[in-house]
Amino acid sequence: MNSKKPFWEKPLSELDQGEWEALCDGCGRCCLHKAEDADTGAYYATDIACRLLDRESARCTDYARRRAHVPDCVTLTKASVDSLGWLPETCAYRLRAEGKPLFSWHHLLSGSRESVHEAGISIRGWTVSEDEAGEIEHHLIDRPL
Ligand code: SF4
Ligand code: SF4
Repeated sequence: MNSKKPFWEKPLSELDQGEWEALCDGCGRCCLHKAEDADTGAYYATDIACRLLDRESARCTDYARRRAHVPDCVTLTKASVDSLGWLPETCAYRLRAEGKPLFSWHHLLSGSRESVHEAGISIRGWTVSEDEAGEIEHHLIDRPL
């Protein structure tokens, strides 16, 4: 029965590597800096982008060698997705880990890699590079992670 479902409706544990990678919506929001409250552990969104992030395409500009540039870049895995509290609420991996459906703007449903941008979900158009940002306190934004 499960096998008749499209892979984006299956549990994450059943996805093969190609399906896992295709699940990414391309929003780029996991590549934004987060501010963490040291007392509560709560995370807050900022508009500061990793220096390796292409702020137009929302893609990493050197994914294969990213750790040489950004040693603390986190690799999302089936094992870690549940524990990463800073993943955006709209992240496809977070949604599926919580048993929720993808949004209609996801490319697997819309058929277009542009729909994540058109829906205003991606980092295109409103972010600044960490190389130019300055203090993170000045970049807290009023939107969910
Ligand atoms: S937040 Fe999730 S869906 Fe968006 S780019 Fe990052 S891993 Fe992909
Ligand atoms: S190194 Fe690449 S994948 Fe990692 S946070 Fe930066 S832009 Fe994102």
